[in-house]
Amino acid sequence: MLTVEKHATIPVFVPHYACRHNCVFCDQKKISGAQRPPEDLEGFLFFAAEGLAEKFTSADIAFFGGSFTGIEEPLMRFYLEAAKKTREKYPRITGIRLSTRPDFISEHILDVLSEYGVTTVELGAQSMDDGVLRLSERGHTAADTEKAAKMIKERGFFLVLQTMTGLPGDSREKDLYTAEKVIALRPEAVRIYPCAVLKGTKLEEMAKTGEYAPQSVEEAVEICAELTELYEKNGIKILRVGLHSSDLTKNGSVVSGAFHPAFGEMCRSERIYRNIREKLRKNGVRSGFFCAAVKERDVSAAIGQNRRNILRLEEEFDIKIRITYIKESER
Ligand code: SF4
Repeated sequence: MLTVEKHATIPVFVPHYACRHNCVFCDQKKISGAQRPPEDLEGFLFFAAEGLAEKFTSADIAFFGGSFTGIEEPLMRFYLEAAKKTREKYPRITGIRLSTRPDFISEHILDVLSEYGVTTVELGAQSMDDGVLRLSERGHTAADTEKAAKMIKERGFFLVLQTMTGLPGDSREKDLYTAEKVIALRPEAVRIYPCAVLKGTKLEEMAKTGEYAPQSVEEAVEICAELTELYEKNGIKILRVGLHSSDLTKNGSVVSGAFHPAFGEMCRSERIYRNIREKLRKNGVRSGFFCAAVKERDVSAAIGQNRRNILRLEEEFDIKIRITYIKESER
């Protein structure tokens, strides 16, 4: 019998004070629910590792939020020591990951991360366009990201790059340019976050004064569908598209912008729509009845929310379209 390996994540939120910056879109306290790592971090991690469900064959300890490598070194070592001990005691813990900023990477920091067995470093690149970075008040350049990414790869860590769409000064062309630059850095994986306007951020003020026009969900879906296709074609894994909904929807933090709880599914639906559209164009279909066969699990994504894909295809090609499926076992 085939055994499916399941991987879990044990998240630890690090505080915002690790970051000296104030990117216009960030309200890190809200994203991480103003959480702090437990004082007895080692005890917490041991407890979490012991409690891992049977179905998980492996797990990572993941330091999220803030900018991990910006934490003062003794405290950073304290956190890493707890993670290292947990990994040594529990064989199912196979990795330690953390996220940080490109300008918080140095050879010394990478030495420290190696010492404690960190496996994955996630860098918040956000954009590879310096104008977008400046308007977003990121406080680093695209060259900083390139330098940090190369150092991380050279030292043998897994590299994950986080990017955003719909930032101030951003455009489809700049997002595609960012994707090209990211692909050239050969990360193991990416995360794509369309920009949401959060309550209390500078971006909210910029949107109120008209200095910034938030990206709509539809616009973000279109560009993210394109980006995900590009990354996949280049063999780069996509860990996530769209912000996690839990904290944001619970406390009503999202004021506007490209946030939707089913964002990832909407991107998948858009990609299937583009795929069918491409086939219709290639075959020169201009009228009549057309039956599109997709995987069984893709039927509702192919139809789209409120039959959006069907309506768009029928209008563009002046056809009647029906979505059908082939059972996986018959393929
Ligand atoms: S670097 Fe990260 S944590 Fe710091 S303000 Fe910007 S987005 Fe927030």
